[in-house]
Amino acid sequence: MSLGRRAFLQFAAGAVGGTLLTPIPWKLADDSAIWTQNWSWRPSPEPGDLTEKATVCRLCDGGCGIRVRLVNGRRAVYIKGNPKHPVNRGGLCPLGAAGLQLLYAPYRVQQPLKQTASRGDLGGFQPISWDDAMKELSTRLGALRSKGTPHSVAAVTGDSRSSMLPLWRQFLTSYGSPNLFTMPSEADSKAVAASLALGRPADIAFALERADYVLSFGAGLLEGWGSCGHMQSIYGSWREQRPGKPPVVLVQVEPRGSITASKADRWIPVNPGTEAALALGIAHVMVREKLYDLDFAAASAFGFEDWFDAWGTKRQGFKNFVLAAYKPAEVSGITGVDPQRIEELAREFARQERAVAVWGQDAGATPNNVYHDLAFLALNALKGNFKRGGLVGLMPEPPLGALPQPVLDAYASHGLSRDRLDRTAPQPPPLSANAFHAFLDVMAREPAYPVEVLLVHEANPAYALSENHLFADAAAKAGLVVSFSSFMDETAVMADLVLPNHAVFERLDDVIGVPGAPFAYYALAAPVLPPRYNTRHTGDVLLTLARFLGGTVAEGLPWESYESFLRERVQGLAAAYRGAVAKDATVQPGRLEAGAPVKTNFKDARDLWNQLQQGYCWYDAPADPMELLQTASGQYEFACQRLAEVLPPIPEDRFLMPQFAPLQPSGDPGEFPLLLMVYSEPALSDGFYANPPFMNKLLPDDLLLGNDLFAQVHPRTAATVGLTEGGRALIRTPRGEAAVRVHLNPAVRPETIAMVRGLGHTAYDEYIQGKGTNAGGLVEVQMDPITGLGTVWATRAQLRRA
Ligand code: SF4
Repeated sequence: MSLGRRAFLQFAAGAVGGTLLTPIPWKLADDSAIWTQNWSWRPSPEPGDLTEKATVCRLCDGGCGIRVRLVNGRRAVYIKGNPKHPVNRGGLCPLGAAGLQLLYAPYRVQQPLKQTASRGDLGGFQPISWDDAMKELSTRLGALRSKGTPHSVAAVTGDSRSSMLPLWRQFLTSYGSPNLFTMPSEADSKAVAASLALGRPADIAFALERADYVLSFGAGLLEGWGSCGHMQSIYGSWREQRPGKPPVVLVQVEPRGSITASKADRWIPVNPGTEAALALGIAHVMVREKLYDLDFAAASAFGFEDWFDAWGTKRQGFKNFVLAAYKPAEVSGITGVDPQRIEELAREFARQERAVAVWGQDAGATPNNVYHDLAFLALNALKGNFKRGGLVGLMPEPPLGALPQPVLDAYASHGLSRDRLDRTAPQPPPLSANAFHAFLDVMAREPAYPVEVLLVHEANPAYALSENHLFADAAAKAGLVVSFSSFMDETAVMADLVLPNHAVFERLDDVIGVPGAPFAYYALAAPVLPPRYNTRHTGDVLLTLARFLGGTVAEGLPWESYESFLRERVQGLAAAYRGAVAKDATVQPGRLEAGAPVKTNFKDARDLWNQLQQGYCWYDAPADPMELLQTASGQYEFACQRLAEVLPPIPEDRFLMPQFAPLQPSGDPGEFPLLLMVYSEPALSDGFYANPPFMNKLLPDDLLLGNDLFAQVHPRTAATVGLTEGGRALIRTPRGEAAVRVHLNPAVRPETIAMVRGLGHTAYDEYIQGKGTNAGGLVEVQMDPITGLGTVWATRAQLRRA
């Protein structure tokens, strides 16, 4: 059975009460995914008592509340969204719905494994006891410290919104390595932009539940942007009747007719990668017609008007810059949007009382560099959205128990005195962010020092990274690769040691913040079942390693277990005695304004812990971004003084301000006349988790048929190379070649090919391997010259008949 995109969209249209996914997918999950398929590994329910356990989903960072149905307390048979949880209010994304297929998957790693043949040889993996595995790894780590090379240990984690990230940081700092990375995400670039304009490298948050008008620059709001469950719940609320108020208007600016574009009130197709230019064209009109927040620009912003630098030189401000450089006629030439349309959009955006601009695609696949993030921030600043009560801010940090200051012995001090490997590149970027692509690139070439141990946690970079060959190239140079994956994924296959984590639903985790949401949020994901196999929580593995290493490393990580570490974090939260536990979905933290009073409703740390264990979440009001400002001027900076510090002496004025600065894809346009653009699809998991078979059933036949992936191509483009619907074709880029079939789609621009992410796995099992093509192997990663972050907006491509 196949559920087409149109049907999926009908679910969206039918959303009520904030729940996007109606019971229909539940029916699918219940009937199709678990019980009526003939997968040999399907769980067989036994007769018995049915119970439900509430917890929080950890299959992504979304923070959705779920309820898991159990038979006799030991067999999980069903997951549904928790209607009492304020993040998703009963909604659930397809991955959440299919989560039990991951728990019961045959490709779970059931005990620690050691590669005894060459890397990548599946038959070479042999079971090893936990004791032996820990001894082997800790001996290796101990020897590297004794040799004075702790910096040669590196780690990457895909878990950046739980207490695992500070634990990793604590471990590597105490040990003596600066080489800690997270898997690339669009939040990386936004955090750098926030540090420039607002002085804090925090996630940017949007009060979309309070918005009346949303101008989205390519943000896949219904394709997984921010928190999928939260966003779907918000979209449902936008489409509810609002007595006495007009409906919320969604305007989607995007080259491709995406799901979000199809559900928006207006879709503005732009030339690929030119969204930031349109934002600046809109800013031009707002400034020219004085439609911006005059008070904010005058009293709370630096560099809006022309200004004088420390040498007394007059520098151009944003107002005169945008008036001179982004006239609608010129912006029209860049974006392909009619000048009149730009003027209308600007006036509409400016006149709506609660209008907000959002942007960004996931997985670092943004048509962005940091100047584009600054352009979207500037548009919000013109709207006054950073003022108290505005719609944009910085994600607040819950006041969790702090980790002790690591005590650095001589080994750690020496290791930490070395540059992080990405910063040893011949021309390191002036602002160095989470540059994992740059790290791999340096590692694969001639690194300043070798990586002896590479630790990979909750990440599958060998598959999920754009230009995924970068990981394989780098790993080939690493002395020892250790994967902590619960699954035999592409990265685990190329590891020397696999130390499997408990699966989600078996382990205790926490969730810190909801991506893109303005309120403070903390939740515990309590296990619903004991571990099925001989696995260990990676947090416990790190604590054990620290004890083996002893000395100041052990002192820096003094907790007996990961649970005791989390308990201490929650004690800190309770001691702050602020915020409250949300007991039901009538609590709407997304509607709170900065500083709104929240009545604390827990007694003490034990009470808070117990409530969090029951699937409730803690929340608090948003923070006021203007109170958090830490810029040199103490104001919102249109002209970023931090850029003046780090760029070459006396940079041109425009290099301090938001601007349209596209990175040019490599390759000869004559040879590669098209642009390959990748996109996400809600029924495809494109990160750490491979798409469970249930989710494949949601894919339409014009996206995946059998093992054939369909690239989306405009009919005119297909005709130029003699292709018709379903025709077999070859896509070639400067990075690789892939065989596909084509689906003729007039909602794709003629100069582009659209290809979905999340297919083309080479590992896992027979139900997952070989389905479609991994777009990550075809795309080109370009380094943002300011931040060193990998950006993947488009790749030159050629299409021909196969
Ligand atoms: S959006 Fe994320 S947290 Fe929510 S149900 Fe889906 S996978 Fe789970």
